[in-house]
Amino acid sequence: MSKQLDCPICGGSGYVLLEDGSARACECYKARTLLAARNAAGLPAALQQMTFDKFNLANYPGNQWPTAGGGKSYLDLAKAAFVKTKACCEAVVKGGCRRGILLQGNVGSGKTHLAAAAVNYLLEQHRDVYFLIASELFEELKKSFDGDEETKSKAWRLQQKVKRTETLIIDDLGSHNFSDWTRSVLFTILNYRMNEELTTIITTNMNGEQLRENLDNRLISRLIAQCEPCLLLANNDLRLQIPGGGGK
Ligand SMILES: [Zn+2]
Repeated sequence: MSKQLDCPICGGSGYVLLEDGSARACECYKARTLLAARNAAGLPAALQQMTFDKFNLANYPGNQWPTAGGGKSYLDLAKAAFVKTKACCEAVVKGGCRRGILLQGNVGSGKTHLAAAAVNYLLEQHRDVYFLIASELFEELKKSFDGDEETKSKAWRLQQKVKRTETLIIDDLGSHNFSDWTRSVLFTILNYRMNEELTTIITTNMNGEQLRENLDNRLISRLIAQCEPCLLLANNDLRLQIPGGGGK
């Protein structure tokens, strides 16, 4: 954060005076504003650089076909997931997206990258978006039962936020234990958002069978109504690769 003070362009003031006497925001000010917006949107620091531009299709082989891929290659699946997620965000900006995306795939397949890219894209377009990890969502909401008044009111505000934010991104659904309570919370959120025509993007490691094992039919039908299922698979864990390796 100390960088802005050394900004060679504006000297840290955040604005640049133009010849006609008016002023414009300096690039360092815009970057600071975006950083503040990313933090407010709940995006962890490690995900703030993940954009659609940096999603590397070269990581997905076009000559290998995953068993679960329904005859599509890794590359075909990745292209479809990329195009659909981006199109969904573009539609949000135009005011027309209601059905979000359910990104399903193995650990390290790039789902979280696409989800974070959606957040970054929407923030650049000045849209209301909120990102959170499913396990944290449930953990925080649980505090509405047994915390002090301040904790309870914080949990209540979070509940309102996840219900009402224009685009909600839930990462890693299923990384926690399911209970009747988590199922009912998820149903309430999805149901509210469906009725309000708000967009939800969810990532999960669970395949169809695991979804059926952990969610009831009513919840699955709500989930599918809200989010178009989209497979994203990788033949190895992309998170273990050296950053920048492999090129664009
Ligand atoms: Zn500056």
